[in-house]
Amino acid sequence: MRPKTTRGTCAHCGKEFTKAGMGKHLAKCLIDRPQTVQDKNKPCFHLQVGAKNASAYWLHLQASADATLEDLDDFLRQIWVECCGHLSLFHIADHEIDMSRKLGSCLQKGMEIEYDYDMGATTSLRITVLGGYPGLVTKKKPIEILARNQPPVIICDECGENPAALICPECGMLCTSCAAEHDCGDEEYLLPVVNSPRTGVCAYTGE
Ligand SMILES: [Zn+2]
Ligand SMILES: [Zn+2]
Ligand SMILES: [Zn+2]
Ligand SMILES: [Zn+2]
Repeated sequence: MRPKTTRGTCAHCGKEFTKAGMGKHLAKCLIDRPQTVQDKNKPCFHLQVGAKNASAYWLHLQASADATLEDLDDFLRQIWVECCGHLSLFHIADHEIDMSRKLGSCLQKGMEIEYDYDMGATTSLRITVLGGYPGLVTKKKPIEILARNQPPVIICDECGENPAALICPECGMLCTSCAAEHDCGDEEYLLPVVNSPRTGVCAYTGE
């Protein structure tokens, strides 16, 4: 059992909000930041990334307009989805967007694009461009986290009481004591519960 909403902490001021609340908060907090840390000439986007079928998982990012979709792909793989080098793509409806494009050339405030990782057991994400503003991204780090959901507390499917720590791809979420007694023949394949919409999918371990 997974919760629908989670909270996260603003990287700038430390306040906690839900995904939507964080979007509104950051629109203000990003502008209120001390001017000294901003490079006023560097345009940047405020992106909200959410998992299509798991609303507990979300990210708010700032990304340089000079970053490419390939940079964003690398970032999403690292933080959320990479398990065994599956294919991925960005698209708007049925139109695939070339990964070599710079964000500044294909994104606009208010736009929504989709990201699919792995065409078999697909993890689908929705990326919303919440704003454009001058930011503090550097050449070294074209994409940075503004906020991320706290790990949702997932309850064990077996006992319905304890928080789950492992996932049996066949049977579902398991706490450590239920996992120890688990006997469906698939125990070797138990996957860890990690803070990602890809938890429990394919061979994803979050590492
Ligand atoms: Zn803040
Ligand atoms: Zn995989
Ligand atoms: Zn249990
Ligand atoms: Zn099992």
